[in-house]
This record gives sequence, structure tokens and C-alpha cells, in this order.
Amino acid sequence: MDYQSTRSNIKTDSVHAVLQGLAPDGGLFIDPSIEKISFDWKKCLTLKTQDMAVMILKALLPDFKGMEDLVKQAYSGKFETEELTPLVKAGPFHILELFRGPTSAFKDVALSMLPRLVTAARTQSGMKQEITILTATSGDTGKAALEGFKDVEGTRIIVFYPDSGVSEVQQMQMTTQEGSNVCVCAVKGNFDDCQRGVKQAFSELRETLKDSNYSLSSANSINIGRLAPQVVYYFAAYRDMIADGTIKEGDKIDFCVPTGNFGDILAGFYAKLMGLPVGKLICASNANNVLTDFINTGKYDRKRPFYKTDSPSMDILVSSNLERLLFLASGKDESKVSQWMKDLNENGEFTVDEKTLTYIRESFEGECCNQNETEEAIAKCWKENGYLCDPHTAVAYYVADKRENRRPVVVLSTASPYKFPQAVLRALGESEEGSGFDLMKRLNSVTGVKIPKNLSSLEGKKVRFKESIERNDIVSYVMGKLK
Ligand SMILES: *Cc1c(COP(=O)(O)O)cnc(C)c1O
Repeated sequence: MDYQSTRSNIKTDSVHAVLQGLAPDGGLFIDPSIEKISFDWKKCLTLKTQDMAVMILKALLPDFKGMEDLVKQAYSGKFETEELTPLVKAGPFHILELFRGPTSAFKDVALSMLPRLVTAARTQSGMKQEITILTATSGDTGKAALEGFKDVEGTRIIVFYPDSGVSEVQQMQMTTQEGSNVCVCAVKGNFDDCQRGVKQAFSELRETLKDSNYSLSSANSINIGRLAPQVVYYFAAYRDMIADGTIKEGDKIDFCVPTGNFGDILAGFYAKLMGLPVGKLICASNANNVLTDFINTGKYDRKRPFYKTDSPSMDILVSSNLERLLFLASGKDESKVSQWMKDLNENGEFTVDEKTLTYIRESFEGECCNQNETEEAIAKCWKENGYLCDPHTAVAYYVADKRENRRPVVVLSTASPYKFPQAVLRALGESEEGSGFDLMKRLNSVTGVKIPKNLSSLEGKKVRFKESIERNDIVSYVMGKLK
């Protein structure tokens, strides 16, 4: 029994935490002794990335059997490089490229692994029911989850994305998805509406489905099986910084992370808790800067305008994974966390106490980047460093570039620029007329940067999913699909 809910003392093991996704009380599963986990981080730094993954996942999800095979099935031959996440130089910064997987977004790192964990958990626990994965996406999770779960036995996946809230390329990626167990549906609303609907489906349908042949789980980063694989690339980046002579073992480095649902950056905090010498984790927000305000003031306030930006995967006002940090920062006080989440739900805000805020600010900083600054950053990074950023990466690049850096900084790069060719072309002062494919080709001819094959091959694929529903109809839609 290693895991517990962030909102009460409901306990379970890592296998069941992955199977359930969300705790029955609405909380997130967390290992409350993560800070004391015994982990030989120095040994980890001597390994290749996939072996690092085995070691880290065994530590974080100790009840899984055969982790070596699961990791191999997840990653071998699926990424552009067997080292998965290359570290490259761009001017004074190191850029950690997390988008070299099957759908060109950083979500691939976790969502290649999650289906392996879910099916292993199903087998290990002797579960007979079919698992339906419900996923809310701001653009990238959906495609990466569909690709990960496509035709995986014993599973089915339903993805909800905000209608006109994702880029044309992202939409094409999802609506053309192949596979016999997949379903994609647009929602007339924003990402938060999708996420709320999915959470509601979990809580309302759990009882209804109890004795049926179906069970629900989640591919969102509320699932610990999604978060754990992301810890790996922080270690990989650190290893590569030692190898290229930037640091010596034991030196601290900072990571600047383009942040939305707080999963990516929280994985960096996990790496720190496991011993990796991390200085600051810099939370970079776009114009939806609710998290950076929170880190700077201790007040989380989602009652603010919602902006649709060029970095749609970060257009989020309710960041689910913050709850795990709040749990640790509050001294593992479930009742405090429950109260804050209740306040957020009912009043749209909560404020943490001084001690909690101090804990958070020991490891985190927050800074934001508005729409114009994002475009400027894309242009600047290209002109000065010859490195082409997507708009999400550009948010982090902008923040890192503006900051006074006392230590080496790794900027996490979370998507291929070819997922957002319109915004990138605009930033470079080029024409943004034409279809998604015209734009990809133009960006390629302007920059010479290669188009990932999974994106160029979308051209001519058949659109399979055209449904669009009202935001309050998510629960009934799921019920309809399960019948
Ligand atoms: C999901 C996503 C993010 C935000 O990551 P979180 O874990 O939600 O904070 C940033 N950039 C891209 C391209 C993404 O897909």
C-alpha cells in the first residue's frame, strides 16, 4: 500500500493507482513517502535512457512486474532516437527535445508507456472488465493517447477536445486516427470544460458501472502512470550535461518548463526529490498565467479571462497536478488540500498558508510570456541561435532568456514547430495563408528544418470523427458509447 489520495487517507498500491487514474474521492494518487524513497541517483546517471526508465519506474511503481519488458515494448523503435529525448544547444541554453516520438509532442514520452502499464495492471490484478480510457485534451494528449492505446487489447479510448481550441494540424491528427477501439469527439467549450466533463463522468459513472463489464480510467496526467515516465528525461538531461562538459556530477541546474496542467514540471520536482541536483524549476506560463501568479503570491485565482493563445496546450486555468505539489507542500495534510480544492470548485480561488508557499518557492519560480512576446521569442531564437521553437517551447525560451541565470538552464521543448506552422510562420514574418499542409511546406522551405514524417503523412488521410457536442453532454455521451 504505497499510494494514497491527496484528499483523504484512501490507500492503494501502485498497480491499482494506475488502473483507477483518479482516487474515488476526487483526489490524485500520490506516494506520501516519495521524499524518502531510497534511490541511487548517481547510478541512474550512468545508464542509457531506457535503462534509466526501468530503474525510475521500478522505484516509483514498485508493484509492477516485468518493468524491463514493458519499457522495451513502449519505446523500442518508436522514437527518432533510442535515447528518446536528445539534448541540443541553442545559444546559451540547452534544449531538451521531448518531441521526437510518434506524434511529435512531449506527451509521447508518457503515453507510449501508459498503455503498457494499464494492460499490465489489468493482467496483474486479474481484472476481466474492459477499460475505457477517458481523456480531455488541449491538443497534444489526445493524439498521443490515441496512438498509444490504438488496438491495445482490453482497452478502448474516448478523447474530448475543445472545438476550435486546437491547431488545424492537431485536429487533423486526431480526427484521422486509425484503430478499432478509438473515438474522438469535439466539445463546444474550452479545455477546462472538457476536463470538468471527464472528471464528472468519472464520479457519476463509477457507481453505475460497478457491476458491469466496463471500467473507466484516465490518460490525463492525473494518472500516476502518466507522470512517472516523465521523471526520466530530467535524469537523461542531467547525464547529457555532464557528458558534454557543462557540469560536474553534483552541480545544480535549473529547468525552465512550458507549463499547463503542471504534470511536466511536477515530474522535475519528483526527480529532485529522488536526489537529482535540481536548482529551480521555472514554471513558464503563457497569457493564462494563473500558475505563475500563484507561485508569486500564494493565491490561486481562476476567475480571470481565458485567452486562446498560440500555445493551446497551455491554455488551462485549472492545473490538476498542482494538487500533488500542494499535498507535499502542506506537509501531507489531506484536509488542507481538500479544503483548497473545495474553495477552488465553489469560489474559484484558494490561498495557501505561508509555510506551504515557502516550501513551494524553495523549488519553484514562475514567470509568464504573452502572445506578442511568444512570437518575438520564436523569431529571436531562430535569428540568434538558428533553433526553431514551437510556440510552447518559445514561452519557456522567453522566460529563460529574460531571467538572470546563475546556473546552467535546460529549456524543455515540448512540441515540433510543425504542429503549429501558422503561428511559427507569423512569428518569422512569413505568410500564414493556406491549409495546414501548405503551411508546413512553407515553413520547411523558409527554414530547412525537416518535417516529421508522422505529420507530413497526414495529408490525404480520411477524417473519421466529425461529432461535436455541448459541454454539458460529456457524461451522457460516454454512457451512450458504453452501451
Ligand atoms: C501538454 C503540453 C504542455 C504542458 O504540459 P503540462 O504537463 O500540462 O504542464 C506544454 N507544451 C506542449 C506542447 C504540450 O503538449
